[in-house]
Amino acid sequence: MDQETTQEHAVIIACMDKRLNAPLDEFMAKLQGGSSGMGVTVLRNPGANVNGAKESIYALERSGTRPTAYYIMPHTDCAAVKLAADNVNVGASDISNKTLQAENLVKMLGEMDSLAFFDTKKNVIFADVAKVKAPHHDIGPVLVVTVTPSAKSYAEMAKTVGSDILDTYFVQALSPGEASKDVFNFAKKIDASKIVVLCLTASSQEKSMADGMVRQYSSLGIDSTAQSLRKDRIKG
Ligand SMILES: [Zn+2]
Repeated sequence: MDQETTQEHAVIIACMDKRLNAPLDEFMAKLQGGSSGMGVTVLRNPGANVNGAKESIYALERSGTRPTAYYIMPHTDCAAVKLAADNVNVGASDISNKTLQAENLVKMLGEMDSLAFFDTKKNVIFADVAKVKAPHHDIGPVLVVTVTPSAKSYAEMAKTVGSDILDTYFVQALSPGEASKDVFNFAKKIDASKIVVLCLTASSQEKSMADGMVRQYSSLGIDSTAQSLRKDRIKG
């Protein structure tokens, strides 16, 4: 049998910070435009935390997708990394953000080695977001949650939920539990005005899962809805 798929598949683990949306769109376009239609899965959580994406990585590899490359995308001025500093009881003033990032990356690459089942390339792309200016908003940013593997453009997803690419945080996982953990920990911290669980496929299974998550999130007291990227195609 010679049916083995040779399609390249990249997994990007990026911070949920909204300033990474545009750089990610650019990076995904580069990956997909290169060799014959490379598949891309993006996982996003606070701080591009490899350990926090563990269940998703297992789920992906179990599903038969064999990632050929992993990219970890942390960034300058990361609130999640500063939070990690507080938790490990390091005097934040004693340690530069850069040192902390470097230490974090060494740790994350070690975690990646223990998590990835297959021999894959591991790359770190450090995004400098110092020059990205977030717009002034009157109603607070929108938090978008997705749980299906996909590489949709953030510009398109933000537009779908009626927000701006610079004012939308994305939590992305392949495990609803993993995504929800981040929502409960961070929706209030980012002052989210609205939470949207965005369905990226037309499957009714995804839709009912999204509805379940929305019911959970109602306890946060933030307006939460399930929505589809392609309204016309959703069924059930
Ligand atoms: Zn960050």
